[in-house]
Amino acid sequence: MKTRQTIPMHLRYTINDFNAQFPDNDSCLEHLKEQRFPGGVAHCEKCGQDRKHHRITGRPVYSCDYCGTHISPMAGTIFQKSSTSLRLWYYAMYLMASTRCGISAKQIQRETGVTYKTAWRIFKQIRSLLSEPDMQLEGLSVEMDESYFGPKRKRGGKRGRPSADSPKQCVVGIVERHGRAIALTSENATKQNLLRIAKERILPESTVFTDDWVGYNDFAQEGYAHKRINHSEKVYVVGDVHTQTIDGFWSLIKRGIGGVYHQVSKKYLQTYLDEYTFRYNRRDQGNLIFNAFLKRVCERAA
Ligand SMILES: [Zn+2]
Repeated sequence: MKTRQTIPMHLRYTINDFNAQFPDNDSCLEHLKEQRFPGGVAHCEKCGQDRKHHRITGRPVYSCDYCGTHISPMAGTIFQKSSTSLRLWYYAMYLMASTRCGISAKQIQRETGVTYKTAWRIFKQIRSLLSEPDMQLEGLSVEMDESYFGPKRKRGGKRGRPSADSPKQCVVGIVERHGRAIALTSENATKQNLLRIAKERILPESTVFTDDWVGYNDFAQEGYAHKRINHSEKVYVVGDVHTQTIDGFWSLIKRGIGGVYHQVSKKYLQTYLDEYTFRYNRRDQGNLIFNAFLKRVCERAA
């Protein structure tokens, strides 16, 4: 099948590029070492200072040039103690970074022969790197909305008021127009919760576009420039007042979670939201998003 190539040349990183850069475990290890300890220089516990290290042939460790103490570039990362090869981890990250709509554990199971359980754990670990707990939006026009994820309702049901035993999970989303997004699972979409999330994530001088859900009623009173569209009256766009950016964001995630992941339990939903958001927020980077994944491994190393 021929698909239209929409990624500009300088942002392309194909599977051939991946195979050329990372042909084996050693090339991945060397890459990881350079990211964590550029030039092989790292703190040596025994010497008590930064020392140059060299590779020990046949083992995934580097040795202090002075005293011979070993360090591992994998220590403290998601790769530590894993029996999965480093190259397979890299490949899994490449796949997850290169898709728009999600990648299933089944696919990597088929392609590489690891068990489904292993594949699922690899993706779970990678997702754990992608959260943005402190991210604040800086855009001056943001759209905010809540949405519900989970099995389809049989019929009707009141919006914003899932019962305690509802299988649906409330998610609050905020997007900058032409910018980044945040998606957070939330117990519910009450005034208190929506306002708390807004205050943590949106600049006070931003204009917030929402629909007419009562949960947003206090936004203007709290100092936000607040513009609302009357979805309950079936009005969707009036001039610049709309929530089409976040509508598009929701449908991207819902297509992925419904299509690739076939529903996600409440327990793991936030990590899937983190995965989609991480890519969405770097969508102008083509498939160089892979680099952002690699960088995250080191940033989140203990
Ligand atoms: Zn040393």
